[in-house]
Amino acid sequence: MKKIFPSVLLCSSLLFTAGSQASLVSKDLSLAEKARETASKVNSETIGAASENTSDWLTHGRTYDEQRFSPLDQINEKSVKGLGLAWEWDTGRKRGLEATPLVVGGVIYTTGTYSEVIALDAKTGELIWRNDLNVDRARSKYACCDVVNRGLAAWEGKLFVGTIDGRLVALDAVSGEILWDTLTIDLERPYTITGAPRVVKGKVIIGNGGAEFGVRGYITAYDANNGEQVWRFYTVPGNPADGFENEAMAMAAKTWGGGPWWEIGGGGTAWDSMAFDPDLDLLYVGVGNGAPWNKHIRSPSGGDNLFISSIVAVRPDTGEYVWHYQTTPGDAWDYTATQHMILADLNIDNKLRQVIMQAPKNGFYYVIDRATGEFISADNYVPVSWASHIDPETGRPVETDNSYKEEGKLQFPSPLGGHNWQPMCFSKDTGYVYIPSRQLSFYYSQPESFKYKPGTWNVGIPVMKDTDFPVGLDPQLLKTLGPSTARGYLQAWDPIKQERVWEVQHTGPWNGGVLCTGGDLVFQGNASGYLVAYSASTGKEVWSYNAKHGIIAPPITYQIDGEQYITVMAGFGGSVGLSFSITIEDIPVNHSTGRVLTFKLGGNEKLAISEDVKRTPEPPALNATDEVLALGNRKYHENCVYCHGPGAISSPAMRDLRYMNKATHEQFMAIVMEGSMEGIGMPNYSDMINEEEAKAVHAYLIALAHKTLESEDASSAWLAVKGAAYSVMAYFVGTFDKISVWFSDEGK
Ligand code: CA
Repeated sequence: MKKIFPSVLLCSSLLFTAGSQASLVSKDLSLAEKARETASKVNSETIGAASENTSDWLTHGRTYDEQRFSPLDQINEKSVKGLGLAWEWDTGRKRGLEATPLVVGGVIYTTGTYSEVIALDAKTGELIWRNDLNVDRARSKYACCDVVNRGLAAWEGKLFVGTIDGRLVALDAVSGEILWDTLTIDLERPYTITGAPRVVKGKVIIGNGGAEFGVRGYITAYDANNGEQVWRFYTVPGNPADGFENEAMAMAAKTWGGGPWWEIGGGGTAWDSMAFDPDLDLLYVGVGNGAPWNKHIRSPSGGDNLFISSIVAVRPDTGEYVWHYQTTPGDAWDYTATQHMILADLNIDNKLRQVIMQAPKNGFYYVIDRATGEFISADNYVPVSWASHIDPETGRPVETDNSYKEEGKLQFPSPLGGHNWQPMCFSKDTGYVYIPSRQLSFYYSQPESFKYKPGTWNVGIPVMKDTDFPVGLDPQLLKTLGPSTARGYLQAWDPIKQERVWEVQHTGPWNGGVLCTGGDLVFQGNASGYLVAYSASTGKEVWSYNAKHGIIAPPITYQIDGEQYITVMAGFGGSVGLSFSITIEDIPVNHSTGRVLTFKLGGNEKLAISEDVKRTPEPPALNATDEVLALGNRKYHENCVYCHGPGAISSPAMRDLRYMNKATHEQFMAIVMEGSMEGIGMPNYSDMINEEEAKAVHAYLIALAHKTLESEDASSAWLAVKGAAYSVMAYFVGTFDKISVWFSDEGK
């Protein structure tokens, strides 16, 4: 039987240059030679001393405590006005770039789309080598949130990357050649990897994603020398009838009820954050949401469902469980605790505490004792409606009336989280944590007909009824609670006082990770295409650069020959960036291919962004009834919206179907029902929709193309700042039609 996949997610890069078989492109390896010695010495000692090493960036969060603070201060509040582009390097590809580059001995190692690995001369941007690892791009159908990769790990002359098709690959840092290649997942289950590995005591640690589709989460440690598995720690229990892997799983299973959660998998994927304390010998792992989202389906008789939405501390040598702290017991809202974790020693109530800090999706900022897991404090850093506060005695949330068992419920934060994967930073100078934040609500609901379908999106949203398309929501309610309050911002947070110090408003809700420096600066890119430096103390903007390309990745800094550099990857995408054209008025951002951008004082290179080719829709005559258009609208938003955007307004990384040319219109049915463009990533949908529905989708797209022709301004209106927030809401509640009405009501 043909496996059924969610066609909404069956998108892979339509812009990837097909036919590229060569996995390793080598340029000038003599440039890599200079990194050989430094690369060979990346180990416990050098990463342990990384906080004083201002030349390199040796591990994902710069140091094992993941503070992302560099003491470099050549670029500071006074000198920053002289900061300019030193070089740029064009990846030649679209889609999201989320990686934190490493810098080792004057070479930048980073990752691009589909887990590609890139080595560049850190001083000049010259390509040394790139290796696409021959990743299976069809695996993108299981990538909930774009074919992104968040970076590499380095150890004793090797580099390690987790791939979207579930492998952990070791490469030679000098040549870029693959040294070993280990499959870390069961390919029969919808796992993917987007997170960066960490290497601790010679073991490469990697997790995975896939909870939205239904998997059982785990992290695995592999021997850095040969890729052999050392241990595996499951984050949720399997079928009790099969016995448990360890005591931790037996304990966790007592918090699950009514099964069979193991059939869907239970979730708890560890898809991003880790931190390590060498003195305590503890590895911290951030664990994701449950699968499916609705706890009443996942665990009908209740329970906390350990270790979903938890921070778990394990021994790095054995994977043995030590302690856990669950941020969202029995999570039902995709409130992952996979967000960035920072280790610091803070003076709290006149006592120096060893803490671990996290701003998980659930909206509360947590300070936890990292030796014991003891709750110290928490307060909400964004508006929160699911819980009133965290009980200081028990460390548990005091929940509001938040159930969506019978009726859907609008709630803050949304599944995008008050904070998502975009890394924070902690300034040793100010003592503040800088949080890329967003305020957004979401209508959580559960269709009565929910049924687990292997390999598909199994989160139970949104409600779609034939008789009540798109959704029977009260527009007034959404208008009050939703779009009008949707916003993104950067905030400085005092983790001791648990209060906001300053905040800077952004134009859209999906922006970049951050970097803290000794120059009293915080760097952050944004959806508007700017890289900005703020005073870490006051939040005052002191420098900005128009990168003409939305930025979501976090910047890094390093030093070569006495000069300080700032590097960031510019490539808008990710869960929001893929589905929506969240670009800002008058700035032709995001139409170009992704870049690595590097800045230094006195840098005066010019950005070479090619002009976007203006296309004109070439639709055939519209010849469809209102009923057919309504059917097409519905089927489009059920099947195509995640990749091609609400109302077919696509992210520039994807084909905008309103602009299909004559030839594409003629082939439409063959593309959709026969998979004639599978080679460039557009899958066959014939197992998801029937002939009549496909024709209706085509009619709907033809209608939109005519509308676009009629009003050239229509798209720029949609690209307006406010439109960004509206389209995000549309995405989450599926109310595109109603939102477009509001849009015209309210104007720009
Ligand atoms: Ca999730």
